[in-house]
Amino acid sequence: MSSVEVRNLSKKYGDFTAVRNASFRAETGSLISILGPSGCGKTTTLRTIAGFEDATAGDILLDERSVSDVPAWRRNIGIVFQSYALFPFMTVADNVGYGLKMRKMGKAEIVRKTNDVLNRVGLPDSNAKYPRQLSGGQRQRVALARALVIEPAVMLLDEPLSALDAKLRDEMRFELKKIQRQSGVTTLLVTHDQEEAFTLSDQIVVMNNAVIKQIGSPRDIWDNPNCAFVADFIGIENILPAERTETGVRIAGREFQAETDVSSGRDVMAAFRSSDLELAIDEPGHFAGLIVGEAYTGSDNVYQVQSDLSRAPIILKTEKSLRLSGNISLKLPADRIKILERD
Ligand code: ATP
Repeated sequence: MSSVEVRNLSKKYGDFTAVRNASFRAETGSLISILGPSGCGKTTTLRTIAGFEDATAGDILLDERSVSDVPAWRRNIGIVFQSYALFPFMTVADNVGYGLKMRKMGKAEIVRKTNDVLNRVGLPDSNAKYPRQLSGGQRQRVALARALVIEPAVMLLDEPLSALDAKLRDEMRFELKKIQRQSGVTTLLVTHDQEEAFTLSDQIVVMNNAVIKQIGSPRDIWDNPNCAFVADFIGIENILPAERTETGVRIAGREFQAETDVSSGRDVMAAFRSSDLELAIDEPGHFAGLIVGEAYTGSDNVYQVQSDLSRAPIILKTEKSLRLSGNISLKLPADRIKILERD
């Protein structure tokens, strides 16, 4: 097992910069996700770590040693692609054992290791089957087994669950985490799915437009997104322009107390979750709203509320059932407001 460090990595294709000055570190045995929208440079980062792309600038270190001059096949990295990339005319056992055969391992040893790893991924009786005879989830496990069997120092997973339907994807998340914990292999996962990143990762690297926006544990990022992009990407519904004051922020002329360590200038964004708004009657600091839209999500009612905080309606989530076109009184508790730098 190795730690992985990406140091000031940039990757250009011609004049186009796909990754700009990215730095992060995955500790030995940890699972780190690169999370961001399509085209932000996630896969390029992963491919550069794998050695499929040369960095334009910067360095990749495995266990503190630079591998920039080491070819892909000598980096001891296991890779699982979105498409699984299984060989269709090979059995499961041959697919899994392929990497060992390439390493000139003896037949008996290949059989032993293949059986062992197929057991670990929960496919003990599938050796003789062909990929077409397997479900999506089973193929995914074979791809994982094939990556794990070479006992890699690092495993790279590129959107490994995105080809699965929603229910199977949820199940495989737990499986993937279990397998990663048991094998202890340092793992980098690329995903655009924030739920996947949050449930699986020790650390999350959030990227946008070729740049790392934030690095932190799922809890850090959930509680303290550092900019409007990250707040929006993790699903905070209300993000409004605001000005900083001595004691908090001013949103559309209304003062709210809030704490912050954001060191940017006067112009900031104020963010709060739809569930952080409270229904209030004539309490200090309350403000008026008019319900202009509604939706029901199963457990909660979600409302669009027109208020004087912003031109577009803000979003309120509540267990209470409210009347469309009704007037309400809302309160925004001070400790719920996140003050963010403007992007
Ligand atoms: P997705 O989730 O859609 O795979 P991504 O975040 O993984 O997106 P990358 O595949 O890293 O994004 O691509 C980042 C940018 O670099 C994109 O704009 C892409 O078009 C560009 N790019 C990637 N590979 C090449 C290449 N070989 N030549 C030119 N441009 C490329």
